[in-house]
Amino acid sequence: MLLHSGTLYWPAMAGQVHQYPSLSRNVQCEVLIIGGGLSGALAACTLAKSGRQVILLEKQRIASGSSSANTGLIQYTSDKTLTSCIHTFGEEQGVRFYKSCLDAVKGLLDMDRELGGAGEMFPRNSLYFASSDEDLADLYEEYETLHRYGLPAEWLNRGEIASRFPFAKPGAIYTSGDAELNPYRLIHALMTSAAAKGAEIYENSPVTGFHHEGNHVRCRSGEHVITANHVIIAAGYESQEIRRDRGAYLTQSFALVTEPVSFLDQWHEKCLIWESARPYLYLRTTPDHRIIVGGLDEQLSPSGLDEARFRSRSEVLLERLAELFPQAAGVKAEYAWGAVFGQSRDGLPFIGEHPDYPGCWFMEGYGGNGAVYSYIAARLITQAIMGERSPDLELYALKRSSRPSPARSRS
Ligand SMILES: Cc1cc2nc3c(=O)[nH]c(=O)nc-3n(C[C@H](O)[C@H](O)[C@H](O)COP(=O)(O)OP(=O)(O)OC[C@H]3O[C@@H](n4cnc5c(N)ncnc54)[C@H](O)[C@@H]3O)c2cc1C
Repeated sequence: MLLHSGTLYWPAMAGQVHQYPSLSRNVQCEVLIIGGGLSGALAACTLAKSGRQVILLEKQRIASGSSSANTGLIQYTSDKTLTSCIHTFGEEQGVRFYKSCLDAVKGLLDMDRELGGAGEMFPRNSLYFASSDEDLADLYEEYETLHRYGLPAEWLNRGEIASRFPFAKPGAIYTSGDAELNPYRLIHALMTSAAAKGAEIYENSPVTGFHHEGNHVRCRSGEHVITANHVIIAAGYESQEIRRDRGAYLTQSFALVTEPVSFLDQWHEKCLIWESARPYLYLRTTPDHRIIVGGLDEQLSPSGLDEARFRSRSEVLLERLAELFPQAAGVKAEYAWGAVFGQSRDGLPFIGEHPDYPGCWFMEGYGGNGAVYSYIAARLITQAIMGERSPDLELYALKRSSRPSPARSRS
């Protein structure tokens, strides 16, 4: 599946990265991880740190999938509001989900700190503004819900927004506990760390099939066979080709990175910005003084990603940027891309062991908070493999796809 087209920012900025060998023999291991994106890297690092014997196979180069198209906004608030989560899943589970996401952002920040800040991860606040007067009441209700359950959020009225930003909006939630990230660098640092703890990592090694044999799973990669006690499928949106799920669907999304700009001192606390409209626009800054703008999600045609569409969508993204920040009028995009983007119908990721194939674990972090879900998945699956199965796995269970509760999206 073509996952992205255009010019990606993170790989271009990273320069030369470590190259891993391809698999050249039959191997046995405790845990085989399929996929070398953020999910696979987090799983490899967490499992290797826990003393498990891990092999990771990536069919292309490390971090060449959706993770390199990721714009690196790391937020505890989800595409589905807490109010909506409580309506759908009940108070206990809805609040637990949000608190798990808040803990996951902290966990990612700690991990990045342990890796010497390699992932360029910085704590950030987020502005979530009402795109129109019609959205104001729902947004205020969401603020009250977050506040009621002790989640870090404050309310900004029209005047308070105008005093901090060069745009006027009817109202906004201002959350703390979020972060920005360079996903490409974090993945490479996680792989280095996992390898130092004994994980074997192979690139250009596609897994082409797997089947059960007693307590083992046997996978094939080219001429070679891998025998594992557990297999973790961290194949990103291509997991749909292994386990098609009616609870998830794919769209296409667009993003760009501007040339460096000189007015970021007027960008309040370099916060992450997004809005209540659907599809939503989102923005952030970068350490090298650029702006990342993304959004404008569209339906994905059955033939897949429209490879040229990102060009015209970039122009719209630049117009939307200049509407918010008039100083950005005339600023050019230096990097722009279109990418496949996965979402689940009920707003939650799919994480867990396949009910029909014991020992086969899936990490499917659908939604705008994919990185946060990848972290949660790595932690829960590691614990389960170590013999401690968290009740949280029920919330994300693969089999829940028949649940009759479509996401009301953010509101
Ligand atoms: C435009 C865009 C912006 C986004 N912005 C954000 C954001 O701001 N914040 C956020 O949290 N999330 C964001 N996301 C979501 C995030 O990118 C994804 O959730 C995340 O990248 C998923 O990581 P992954 O490791 O599961 O998948 P991937 O990064 O796609 O990695 C999967 C890997 O598996 C490999 N693979 C597949 N099949 C096989 C096989 N058979 N054998 C071996 N290897 C295989 C692929 O080559 C790939 O490298 C964004 C996504 C897009 C598209």
